[in-house]
Amino acid sequence: MSELTHLTIDEALTGLKNKDFTAVELTQAHISAVENARTLNAFIVETPEIALKQAKESDKRYAAGEARPLDGIPFANKDLFCTDGVQTTAASKILEGFVPRYESTVSQNLFNDGAVMLGKANLDQFAMGSSNTSSAYGNVVNPWKRSDGSNAELVPGGSSGGSAAAVAARITMGATATDTGGSIRQPAAFCGIAGIKPTYGRCSRWGIVAFASSLDTPGPLARTVKDNALLLASMAGHDPKDSTSANRDVPDFASAMTGDVKGLKIGIPKEFKLDGMPEEIEKLWEQGIAWLKEAGAEIVDISLPHTKYALPTYYIIAPAEASSNLARYDGVRYGHRSSEGANLDEMYSKTRAEGFGDEVKRRVMIGAYVLSAGYYDAYYIKAQKVRRLILQDFEKAYETCDAILTPTAPSAAFAIGENEDDPIKMYLNDVFTVTANLAGIPAISVPAGLDAQGLPLGLQIIGKAWDEEMVFRVGGVIEEAAQFSAMPKGLTQKAA
Ligand code: GLN
Repeated sequence: MSELTHLTIDEALTGLKNKDFTAVELTQAHISAVENARTLNAFIVETPEIALKQAKESDKRYAAGEARPLDGIPFANKDLFCTDGVQTTAASKILEGFVPRYESTVSQNLFNDGAVMLGKANLDQFAMGSSNTSSAYGNVVNPWKRSDGSNAELVPGGSSGGSAAAVAARITMGATATDTGGSIRQPAAFCGIAGIKPTYGRCSRWGIVAFASSLDTPGPLARTVKDNALLLASMAGHDPKDSTSANRDVPDFASAMTGDVKGLKIGIPKEFKLDGMPEEIEKLWEQGIAWLKEAGAEIVDISLPHTKYALPTYYIIAPAEASSNLARYDGVRYGHRSSEGANLDEMYSKTRAEGFGDEVKRRVMIGAYVLSAGYYDAYYIKAQKVRRLILQDFEKAYETCDAILTPTAPSAAFAIGENEDDPIKMYLNDVFTVTANLAGIPAISVPAGLDAQGLPLGLQIIGKAWDEEMVFRVGGVIEEAAQFSAMPKGLTQKAA
């Protein structure tokens, strides 16, 4: 039955409709795959009983001819999405034992459409990181290995590392994820899968543990662009419980994938050509340009002049919002409470010292600093102004192009432990992705090639606000041209 785990969501839905297999069989195949891949540490909690119960309900609906859009499709739920009756930790010790009594809107939307939850996926603590090495529940291991035989364990990217590793290892068909500065796209690129960060406001943030509220964007991870379209269509939609969720119709994203980019104008931002960018990344980008040209698109040079300020701007705004959002973890309302402390203030600070990991503490301190009297204007207000300029760069660029093509990340997956000595080095991972978060616009990462070590590399397509359809359309053409079929070693090729 293991070939079931190699199907795409699209193929599995056809198989279920044709009664080639049942939702229970599909789910059981994935539960076994999850059990056999525990060395990846992709899940914090596995929920096989929930999955089987949901799959049985799906089978009943298939039998009654009442199947829903994602009936019987197994997914991994990033452990940042609150799940009714299932522990939700944000990969932090401070939330250990926290069992919400409510369901995040996005996971509820997936359940309403018949999707089946395999478990809660590991992540960087509070979604802060690019390597999934900041989880209190241990590192996630990328299923890909370098071809040099060194067998070094590589990071899956972050913060949605468990979600991405699980999709790449064929132990789930799709996953929920969130992208605040790149946490859907960079892990997608590192794991050889696809992932879209939609427009801010497209998916509700209600019931998702907050990191930086003006940047946090829920979205899917899956192996194909079309599977992303199917998942996003279910996850998205207006939610009165989130005041930043947009009251807009959700288009049929999959039908936007026409395979045709003739006459479209694709912008290439000169500021993304970084000094010292690895040659392989540059070559991949050129290849992407060539594919789109061959498919009939017109390539135009564009300028996004404030790109060089994007990382410093992000690393002021995101920690500022984080320090405010994380003030609620006081040992009283949720999770862990220190048993020491002579008085209330001491209990607060001991709880937070014990509960938060180093990266979280670093962000809380940076955030408190940039928001403090005297520095607020110099850092926080300044960063907000630069954020506006970055958005205006995109608005101007879109006067001359329909979408923008860039690499997703400045490198392939690195080894666990690398880049740990210097937080700034780690922050550089986000150089190509943060601008889309600061501007609130949609962007997808599509697997497009391999580096000299046989590791996957991704190309990013950035669109206009609310124009995910264009992103899917161009992403589909890149996917078709790239014919990315490589898989992590040890995974057998899908049966014909
Ligand atoms: N790597 C970025 C950070 O650490 C982005 C994280 C994210 O998108 N959640 O902030």
